[in-house]
Amino acid sequence: MYRSHNCGELRMDQVGQSVTLSGWVQSNRDFGGLTFIDLRDRYGITQIVFNMDDNADLGEAARKLGREFVVKVEGTVRERSNKNPNRATGDIEIEVSDLQILNAAKTPPFTIEEDTDGGDELRMKYRYLDLRRNSTQSNIIFRSRVGIETRKYLSNLDFVEIETPFLIKSTPEGARDFVVPSRMNPGQFYALPQSPQTFKQVLMVSGFDKYFQIVKCFRDEDLRADRQPEFTQIDCEMSFVSQEDILNTFEGLTKHLFKSCINVDLPDFPRMMYDDAMRLYGSDKPDLRFGMEFVELNDVAKGKDFAVFNDAELIVGICAKGCAENYSNKDIKKLTEWMQRPQIGAKGLVYVKYNADGTFKSSVGKFYEDADLKIWAEKFQAEPGDMLLILSGETDRVRKQLNELRLEMGNRLGLVKEGDFKPLWVLDFPLLEWDEDAERFHAMHHPFTAPKKEDEQRMLNGDFETMKALKADAYDLVINGSEIGGGSIRIHDRALQEKNFKLLGFTQEEAEEQFGFLLGAFEYGAPPHGGLAFGFDRICAVMKGQSSIRDFIAFPKNNQGKDMMIDAPSKIDTTQLNELNLLLNLSDTE
Ligand code: ASP
Repeated sequence: MYRSHNCGELRMDQVGQSVTLSGWVQSNRDFGGLTFIDLRDRYGITQIVFNMDDNADLGEAARKLGREFVVKVEGTVRERSNKNPNRATGDIEIEVSDLQILNAAKTPPFTIEEDTDGGDELRMKYRYLDLRRNSTQSNIIFRSRVGIETRKYLSNLDFVEIETPFLIKSTPEGARDFVVPSRMNPGQFYALPQSPQTFKQVLMVSGFDKYFQIVKCFRDEDLRADRQPEFTQIDCEMSFVSQEDILNTFEGLTKHLFKSCINVDLPDFPRMMYDDAMRLYGSDKPDLRFGMEFVELNDVAKGKDFAVFNDAELIVGICAKGCAENYSNKDIKKLTEWMQRPQIGAKGLVYVKYNADGTFKSSVGKFYEDADLKIWAEKFQAEPGDMLLILSGETDRVRKQLNELRLEMGNRLGLVKEGDFKPLWVLDFPLLEWDEDAERFHAMHHPFTAPKKEDEQRMLNGDFETMKALKADAYDLVINGSEIGGGSIRIHDRALQEKNFKLLGFTQEEAEEQFGFLLGAFEYGAPPHGGLAFGFDRICAVMKGQSSIRDFIAFPKNNQGKDMMIDAPSKIDTTQLNELNLLLNLSDTE
């Protein structure tokens, strides 16, 4: 027997009992006559005592135990004279009667502790050791819990969990595909799914009615801190539903996950139109943990001698509470430079200080009287002591820039509180997005999203301007400024789907070649349907108040898309290349 108990469970109640524990040596403290070993497993740490006077051989052996040795100990639980209130097992220790080394260990390249001395790359290379650390391990265990609660909740509602294939044909979700060469079909390739989108729609045609899957998706994108080339979705689809049904079902799921996994009661989720989100926060995923809504000044700031504002499409700002006094000229200059970095690209930043004595100080003071600035301040509902920060220029760009500033100021002013969760549905996304550079439409969500019912005819018959204004029953779930999930009501009619492909620049042949199976399925009794997908890694991170999904993935990739532990991607040998018909045949290229 390796263990009668785990390393986290013994308490005063068990004093006097004989026990067997197995685990890893966390630390070894040698005090001459006494040696203390901290023994660790995933449940906790228990102190083991070796007394030279009782058993010199065991004591000697204990002294030699290195960090991360795997050992089995037998002994008796006793009360500690020197208790450790910070540890669940801190009231007791094990007086050892036998020790067995199950496996020796090299000294690990970094300490297996909360505050480890290992850098990112090193920890990724030795991921199996990093995963021994309590915080990393508890994130992975938390993820498992969220998955189990998801399955419980959805299966209670009669959802069926169905696996869809990984070796498929491209499903456009806006990223590049990872492709897999087919050995048996020379020159042909599978694509790994960016999502199971078309399959889940086909399952609706088959009558499954309520589908879900916790599923890997693959997107070959340039990586940012919170992106991974392979990530997991809670992917769902339902038939005979309206947008309202979907929002209610998945608001229910989200509330259940928060309650069952972190004991947080979420309130009913507010809803915001996409257009309002953009106008008030400059983002389709506003962080509602604080206010600082945008205020537009076009009607009061134009018409004076300040050409920059007169020429601007939009003049818009935020009110930074209580910042009039503690932002010196130097601070404002620094903030302006921060806004001018290429990542944000603002041309400049106008400030208006509403001083405590009711006077104004502003970078545009020579163009505007105090009476003008007072009107601005009123629009912001600013109070003496506040500072207005204002940008101007082309609408979309300025909103994006001001969103960055709002988030930065929210952080600086300490408005983001730990443990605060502000969920929100963003609704009524545009169906299509016009790409000025490429001179073509992109699907705002994906090509299978339906226009709103009332927009259907306009979509089939309308002109270019009409297309730009089409709205969809498409929705995103946002929590604390993170997009947790998104979905839409789908097209289930062949003619409408063909029209959408056409708007998106597919020729009829291309549409048929790529999505003929779906168009065909729509002709055999496709029910009205819709769904959504949650970012599973993301929701875990948000629930735990962390910013990176990487910490919730057992074996994540680094910023170059590499798995440092197994060293992938890597070269493959010529035989394999040859088998896969990937060897460049020089005569082919000539
Ligand atoms: N397939 C979509 C996505 O991956 C989600 C959905 O529309 O259900 O974002």
